[in-house]
Amino acid sequence: MDIIHLLPDSVANQIAAGEVIQRPASCLKELVENSLDAQATHVRVIVRDAGRTLLQVIDDGIGMSEMDARLAFERHATSKIREAQDLFSLRTMGFRGEALPSICAVAQVEMTTRRAEDETGTLLEIHGSEFIRQEVCSCPVGTNIKVSNLFFNVPVRRKFLKTDQTELRNLLTEFYHIVLVYPKVAFTFVHNDEILHELPAGTEKQRIEAVFGNPKRNAYTSSFVEIKTDTELVSVSGFVVKPEAATRKAEQYFFVNGRYMRHPYFLKAVQTAYSGMLANDYQPSFFIYFNISPESIDVNIHPTKTEIKFADEQAIFQILMASVREALGKFTLAPQIDFDTAGAIDIPAPSDRPVSRPQVTVDPHYNPFHTRNTVYPDKAPTGWEGLYENLPEPEETLTGPVWQYDGRYLITPRTDGLLLIHQHRAHMAVLYARFMDQLTHTRGAMQQLLFPEVLALPRDEMALMGTILPDLQTIGFDIEQLSPDSYSIQGVPAQIADRSAVPVVQEILLRVKERDANTQQEWREQIALSLAESAAIPTGKTLTEDERQDLVSRLTQLPQYTRTPDGKTIVSVIGNDELRKRFEV
Ligand code: ADP
Ligand code: MG
Repeated sequence: MDIIHLLPDSVANQIAAGEVIQRPASCLKELVENSLDAQATHVRVIVRDAGRTLLQVIDDGIGMSEMDARLAFERHATSKIREAQDLFSLRTMGFRGEALPSICAVAQVEMTTRRAEDETGTLLEIHGSEFIRQEVCSCPVGTNIKVSNLFFNVPVRRKFLKTDQTELRNLLTEFYHIVLVYPKVAFTFVHNDEILHELPAGTEKQRIEAVFGNPKRNAYTSSFVEIKTDTELVSVSGFVVKPEAATRKAEQYFFVNGRYMRHPYFLKAVQTAYSGMLANDYQPSFFIYFNISPESIDVNIHPTKTEIKFADEQAIFQILMASVREALGKFTLAPQIDFDTAGAIDIPAPSDRPVSRPQVTVDPHYNPFHTRNTVYPDKAPTGWEGLYENLPEPEETLTGPVWQYDGRYLITPRTDGLLLIHQHRAHMAVLYARFMDQLTHTRGAMQQLLFPEVLALPRDEMALMGTILPDLQTIGFDIEQLSPDSYSIQGVPAQIADRSAVPVVQEILLRVKERDANTQQEWREQIALSLAESAAIPTGKTLTEDERQDLVSRLTQLPQYTRTPDGKTIVSVIGNDELRKRFEV
């Protein structure tokens, strides 16, 4: 039986339009998802030049009939959905019938496919939507799709692609999103004849190990603890890293009903569960799988979006946080955190309420230069800076010479020792204070651009932009809405006049979004932080004696100058005792 039918127009129109294939990674996603929908048990991905010249996906799934093979390349041809309402109870991956026609519109596609019940298979070739040939062929059961020279007929798109390294990373990211939810399917990933991944079928944990583990080292997954909570609303399972094994660069994955999703709000739930347990800058790695009735989520049907709305986000936040905390509680009774203080650290026991600050006693002579995080003063500490909040800042004004070392550090004497100052961060803290001041009291100076720049934004960011626009104008941006999906930037704050404006604004939006900055105070902090980061003197810049003096004096006038607003160390001291010790013998 042929199983493909055409979608009625009414359904087709309900489906959000949008470009399906933006880069090799989106092509990979569509092809591999098709293989999984076709019940493949082994999917092989073969890539050349990061997908620029070749992207091939070979599966051992159900294959297609001769007729289906041809129909599959028609727009809105799908075997997976019949009615609009099916869209909302979706369980299969693809459902729009858009992928194959989109791919073959922008590449040279050759496909062979055979069903188990057929003796011969079908070979089909299409170049840039142009039918080349369809023939009977002999081939194994399953489907083999070869996409060559992606965007061969769309030079703009080709130019838009990043370096091979970046595109390969995009391909792998997309690949991980899929393989982590299909542990029972074997996958192979080959790039330029090198096998990058050979993933046998197994459990979720084995899959995580196979993808991220290093066979030569200790098992990667042994640094994780399992979480598992079943409620009527949602079931949550997966793995979260033990606090002592957290790293700066974390693997953070949420999946819902077998799909990868991004979810900044739930990320916050996990981070909250760890609060007080991670050193500054450290992030928890996790692989968390949600299962929930499809009626209570809104799968964004745009093919390239990974955000998903839940009907009951606050309840799930609580469930998730409690679940992670419970798992951590079991394994952190005796915390192994190696922190360089003389203080005793007491991790709070798991409870349903947000954790209060960890209880500590600190040797006050150790290092009096840490202050609390000023960006999130009301929130749980993001690192250890909360430990030092009551320690006094030294009152002394610095009058000695300021030396520069390695283009990065400033060194200046003080009565109790030598102060080492991180130059870029020092400047960033100074600028942050000034930007915050401009946002709340004065106006920033604006520099008109010679050529206005256009900033095109996706819908969700347009809304966000509307919200923060008045503050951007206060701080010195001259920005106007141009169309329903773009803004024009005509002027920028004087301090960043030498940067190109679009990335700076994009960075601001990204930060506001990622930090979930919902109040004016919060987004102002993110705006100030982002601009300070862009405008601060870069590492490696040689400063004159005057500039060095000026920076140190402006830094030390700040109410808190030993840490950046986002918690990084600015000042470190080598005490006189320590100096003396070095010359004892
Ligand atoms: P969708 O996946 O949204 O249905 P596609 O354009 O990706 O749309 O695919 C169209 C149809 O082609 C699918 O519905 C399916 O019937 C068929 N198809 C695509 N890839 C495969 C495959 N690897 N194995 C079997 N059938 C496939
Ligand atoms: Mg599909």
